[in-house]
Amino acid sequence: WLGLEKKVIVVTGGASGIGKHIAETLSRAGAQAVVGDLNAETGTQDDQGIYYVQLDVTNKRSAEKAVRHVADHFGTIDGLVNNAGINLPRLLVDFRGEKPEYELDEKAFDLMVNVNQKGVFFMTQAVVREFLKTGKGVIVNISSEAGMEGSNGQSCYSATKGAVNGFTRSWAKELGGHHIRVVAVAPGINEKTGLTTDAYNEALAYTRNITVDQLGTDYSKSIPLGRPGKLDDIGNLVAYLFSDRAGYITGTTINITGGKSRG
Ligand code: NAD
Repeated sequence: WLGLEKKVIVVTGGASGIGKHIAETLSRAGAQAVVGDLNAETGTQDDQGIYYVQLDVTNKRSAEKAVRHVADHFGTIDGLVNNAGINLPRLLVDFRGEKPEYELDEKAFDLMVNVNQKGVFFMTQAVVREFLKTGKGVIVNISSEAGMEGSNGQSCYSATKGAVNGFTRSWAKELGGHHIRVVAVAPGINEKTGLTTDAYNEALAYTRNITVDQLGTDYSKSIPLGRPGKLDDIGNLVAYLFSDRAGYITGTTINITGGKSRG
């Protein structure tokens, strides 16, 4: 029904969490999923047929090399999921240290901007060169509810995700004439991934001056559909967006938050 058979789709940060699930969903739908991640070895393949390339999205040369490798290996690239992202509400290393330092420091700030914003830009530049050769392509950017609504304790992260929404709108305008669609997906509170660690929850609870238990209670009360998002909710939406059935959707950010945020 989705018609994704044999489509070559690169998922950045696909070795863990949401990205891993997206790659698996795309693979089950018949696509050739390719995971690009810091924690991946180029040229390896798993038993589901997902192909891996080593990638550091913050490094322009690494992004170009990975995309070149995929295009040479498979002969084409049809899609990109800009999923690699990090969230450091506080510098968690120091947060855990003997003398807790609750201020976000410049290193953490730069890292978030480099991965969440610059990395999305470098990867998009690299794949668009390939898309222009075939005259089509789809990019799905993984944003966040925080990028739509703002978030207490995650201002820098929220700003990088706001930038992702801005890229999405601008690129849809720039690239629509080349039959390239660009859509963002903004998940809210989800089942746990590598990003939502205990230290992350502690940092948020600290900022909000509540306990971690209270943070959990607040989370569950805040979602109209009454449950956190499942990785499947996101995987299914992303797979649909790569389908021609979503062929008129571009330049927008779709909230997937169980009704929590306005979007
Ligand atoms: P995760 O930590 O489980 O996975 C992130 C992956 O990105 C890891 O495999 C990591 O190795 C990879 N990565 C990090 N830096 C990289 C780099 N420089 N180059 C290449 N790969 C790199 O995180 P997750 O929760 O699955 O988050 C995935 C995306 O979803 C992120 O963009 C995040 O902001 C977004 N998001 C997550 C949530 C949530 O609740 N988990 C909510 C909204 C949005």
